Amino acid sequence: MKKHVNIPIFIPHLGCPHDCVFCNQRKISGRAHADFSSVEDEIVRALKTVKDGQTAQIAYFGGSFTGIDREDMIYLLGVAKKYVDRGKVESIRLSTRPDYIDGEILDILKEYGVGTVELGIQSMSDKVLDICGRGHTAQCSARACRLIKEYGFELIGQMMTGLPGAEYEDDVMTARTIAMMCDGARIYPTVVFCDTELCEMAKRGEYAVPGEEELVCRTVGALREFAMAKKPVIRVGLQSSDGVLDERNVYSKTYHPAIGEICYSRLYREIIEEKIPRGEKDIVVVVGKREISKAVGQHGANREYLKNKFGLHSIKFEGDESHSDFEVTIHTRENKSET
Ligand code: SF4
Repeated sequence: MKKHVNIPIFIPHLGCPHDCVFCNQRKISGRAHADFSSVEDEIVRALKTVKDGQTAQIAYFGGSFTGIDREDMIYLLGVAKKYVDRGKVESIRLSTRPDYIDGEILDILKEYGVGTVELGIQSMSDKVLDICGRGHTAQCSARACRLIKEYGFELIGQMMTGLPGAEYEDDVMTARTIAMMCDGARIYPTVVFCDTELCEMAKRGEYAVPGEEELVCRTVGALREFAMAKKPVIRVGLQSSDGVLDERNVYSKTYHPAIGEICYSRLYREIIEEKIPRGEKDIVVVVGKREISKAVGQHGANREYLKNKFGLHSIKFEGDESHSDFEVTIHTRENKSET
């Protein structure tokens, strides 16, 4: 399978009249303003880094792309479309809000070579959406998802775990619903940025900031839903950028750079625990070829944990091309019988 790369162009907060309590786009993208005049240069520069055999998409991320000034949106789509038409990139990818999706917008996106829409769903609980000041309902997200799929776009649902008002069950229900409606997902464990309403809520004691373990637990619960539905989660956690990594932008250590890795490994650990044949002392765990490091865990943490918990003499991890993500088969060393 060809490796896919995105050429990310950030359009932070442009045209967005909303103020979601958790959002500080300037801090998330690490930039104060988008500069349209530099977009084409950015694309050309990034294209040089795309290697032979890789597929690429120009990805307008950061804000609510289909909510920006129509002329600006069409200009940006036009710039990117040139590279689609020349065969330099496969298509365009963009992120937007559910309430900025309708037939007219989707007609434009089709015409300009958009292939993938990433939709900021965040939660499928109306209570959570309301507390977060999102300004749309879960029903609005469901309608947008249906429409995007009817038009034949690839659809990635973005959700957050640990939002104010969200119980564990809300996060899991959101994941289950997105897994049904979308082709894949990104999961963002909530990070509390300074200068946001969420930060003020935390300071006032109206939002109990989830600790790392709670966020991991919620995110693993969400990940499990996608794993069961065999829908890929293309990312867990915010991407590193100078803005995010600058601790002055984040309130009270709520950014855990390795949270994605920790969550993937934790889910593997749970699945393996459920499948280990009791009483066996020497086992072989078979997972997807590219999944071994996640299954073994950071610094072999899962290996050690499982050895200790089940009193194993040996545990070996093997990769197999035919295993999908989070598919685990366990052999016992003696007879290779499957469990
Ligand atoms: S809609 Fe998006 S860009 Fe606008 S405030 Fe909410 S999270 Fe930020």
